[in-house]
Amino acid sequence: MTALENSYQRRMLKKKQIIDERVAQATTERGVLILLKGNGKGKSSSAFGTMVRALGHGQRAAVIQFIKGTRETGEHLFFKDHPNVDFHVMGHGFSWETRDPEREAEAARQAWQMACRYLIPSTASDAPHPVQLVILDELSYMLKYGYLDAQEVADVLAARPPALNVIVTGRTMALPLQEIADTISVIQDERHAFRLGVKAQAGIEF
Ligand code: ATP
Ligand code: MG
Repeated sequence: MTALENSYQRRMLKKKQIIDERVAQATTERGVLILLKGNGKGKSSSAFGTMVRALGHGQRAAVIQFIKGTRETGEHLFFKDHPNVDFHVMGHGFSWETRDPEREAEAARQAWQMACRYLIPSTASDAPHPVQLVILDELSYMLKYGYLDAQEVADVLAARPPALNVIVTGRTMALPLQEIADTISVIQDERHAFRLGVKAQAGIEF
C-alpha cells in the first residue's frame, strides 16, 4: 500500500469514527417537522420523493395541496388512486389566475380543516385512517396572505401525534413554524431553465 493510500485510509477511518459517534448519540425516536423553503426549484418534488420512501416502507401518507394550478399535476395523477395515499387538492379558489381574496380565504380554511383531520387524532367514526406522513404543499402562501393564522397552525403542528412526520413546502416560512421545526432546508435558486426561455414541461414542472 502506498503512503497516499495509507493516509487516505486513516482519514476515512477517523471520519467513520466521528459519524459512528454521532449516530450513537441520535437515539430519540419521534416524528419530525420538515420545512422546505426558498426560491429554487425542488421543494415539492423533494416532499413527494420522501413520500415515495415512506410508501416503500408500507407507510400511509396524506397530501394537502394548498394551491391548485390550472394544470393537472403528475403527482396527483400518479398518487390519487394509491391505496396508501389520501390526496387532497384545495378546492377552487386559490390559483394564480383568479385572485378573489374571500374565496381564497374560505378555500384555505377548508383545506386546513382537512389537514387537521390528520394532525389532530380523533375518535369520530368518520376519522380518516391514521397516516405516518403528512405533506402540506404550498401551505406557506396561506400564512403569507393571512388566510390562516401562523401561530394557530404552529400550535396544531406542535401538538400532533408524536410519531407523525410532517413536511411543509413554500417559498417563505412564517416564524412560528420555523421555531418548532426539526429540519429546515433552503432550496436556493441559482439558475432556472424558465429564465433561459425553456417552456414548462410535464414531468418536470408539473
Ligand atoms: P417543484 O415542484 O418543481 O419541486 P418547487 O415546489 O420548489 O418546485 P414552487 O415554488 O412550488 O417550487 O413552484 C413550482 C413551479 O415553479 C415548478 O414548475 C417549478 O419548476 C417552478 N419554479 C420553481 N422555482 C422557480 C424559479 N426560481 N424560477 C422559475 N420557476 C420556478
Ligand atoms: Mg412547490
